[in-house]
Amino acid sequence: MNSSIIVEEKIVHLLKRSQLSVTDSRRKILEIFIQAGSALAHHDVEEKTAEKYDRVTVYRTLQTFMEKGIIHTIPTTDNSIKYALCKEDCEEGHHHDNHIHFVCEICGTTTCMDEINVPSINLPQGYHANQINMVVNGVCKNCG
Ligand SMILES: [Zn+2]
Ligand SMILES: [Zn+2]
Ligand SMILES: [Zn+2]
Repeated sequence: MNSSIIVEEKIVHLLKRSQLSVTDSRRKILEIFIQAGSALAHHDVEEKTAEKYDRVTVYRTLQTFMEKGIIHTIPTTDNSIKYALCKEDCEEGHHHDNHIHFVCEICGTTTCMDEINVPSINLPQGYHANQINMVVNGVCKNCG
């Protein structure tokens, strides 16, 4: 099967599942994430759309995808935010992205380690965790 057909099907599936209409910008931005296979920053998305969509459109689309459980955010050490596609079990207002993120020190790629969950931690009484992020720095398989 043609891989562009698979990507197209995935895009339509994700948008429909989230009850989002298929607009040009949503389609394009999802395609960028699917093809990248790693986390992207806002400016990466803008660059890859060849500046076809303005900052506001990209920003709003990313916000919508986050709210709908299509993408999740990953904090970075320089305080910028990266975004990556969620797995199937994320839903509107409820993410299950408790996996580790790997940042390559050579190529700078951020990858979701979907199979490796963040270890659970015991917080002192009175503390309640909403989200635990774990970022592992090292050398990725492409650079090693
Ligand atoms: Zn998610
Ligand atoms: Zn690398
Ligand atoms: Zn992730």
